Amino acid sequence: MRHRLRFCRHALPFRQPVRTAHGLWTERDVVLVRLTDEAGGEHYGEAAPIPWFGAGDADGVEQVLRGLGEWIDDSVWARLPADQPTLGFALRSALGTPPPSAREHLPVAALLPAGRVALSVLDERLEAGFRVFKWKVGVGDPADERVLLDDVLARLPGGARLRLDANGAWDRRQAERWLACAAERPIEFIEQPVAPGNDDLLLGLAGDFPTPLALDESLVIDADVERWLDLGWPGLFVIKPCLLADPAAALARLAAADADVVFSSALETAIGARAALRLAFGWTGAPRALGFGVWPLFDTTACNGPSAAPFIRATDVERIDPAAAWAALA
Ligand code: MG
Repeated sequence: MRHRLRFCRHALPFRQPVRTAHGLWTERDVVLVRLTDEAGGEHYGEAAPIPWFGAGDADGVEQVLRGLGEWIDDSVWARLPADQPTLGFALRSALGTPPPSAREHLPVAALLPAGRVALSVLDERLEAGFRVFKWKVGVGDPADERVLLDDVLARLPGGARLRLDANGAWDRRQAERWLACAAERPIEFIEQPVAPGNDDLLLGLAGDFPTPLALDESLVIDADVERWLDLGWPGLFVIKPCLLADPAAALARLAAADADVVFSSALETAIGARAALRLAFGWTGAPRALGFGVWPLFDTTACNGPSAAPFIRATDVERIDPAAAWAALA
């Protein structure tokens, strides 16, 4: 079937700059696509590469889209370059059939900032009803952070869960100390203890310590999912669907391997978020709290996904209006 292709690129300012290992991130460079079918139906998709993740870049996406021309048909899949996976996501989420929702609602993990301020944020989020928390570690002095860890854990009511995210900050020795400490504490899992590129070290740590480990920065493009499945990774897979060219295929492989999956935002707009959340709701494996407690991210209201709440309902996802997000930016 033929579709008329339009796209728009926009540098959308974050309401608050995001602190990353690469400095302050102030705006989200996104490319939205609109495909109009011959009956006039409109379908939306979003390419939101994160340049330092190694999943392409917005300049590259824009260049490919210009080359595709005004009309696309089934031959488009063969024309998508492997180095711009987010464009595959954009077109597949516009044209594909979303999976049926496997549940009515999913819990959302609240993000706790690094350092002592985590305690006051934790109190607020507990008050708001959150029961799953992700705390950023690997930022301050490791010994101080481990003392603080006990303060964080002491505040959690029964049934609450804490995950840690080191964003690859630790070296082997620090990771071993942290994992020895975590072994005696109720930690749901630890995300990316060491930097990507250390596959053997990650596998070794996962085998030597009881706390489950989750791959995040080590898991960017579709081929990474394949590689870690082939390596027999025993821990969790943090999946940012927006960065995968064909997330439905990757998820089918993960499901066949009975993998433990955590769905996470790539700080995309409502268009990408709707497609990513539909995949999360379609996941039939064990449900983990979503890493989607990020909105409102943008001042442009129509571009935000469902506001950070302890749960997202499947009906919240279906209420997202991609045409409104497109209209706000095009
Ligand atoms: Mg992470």
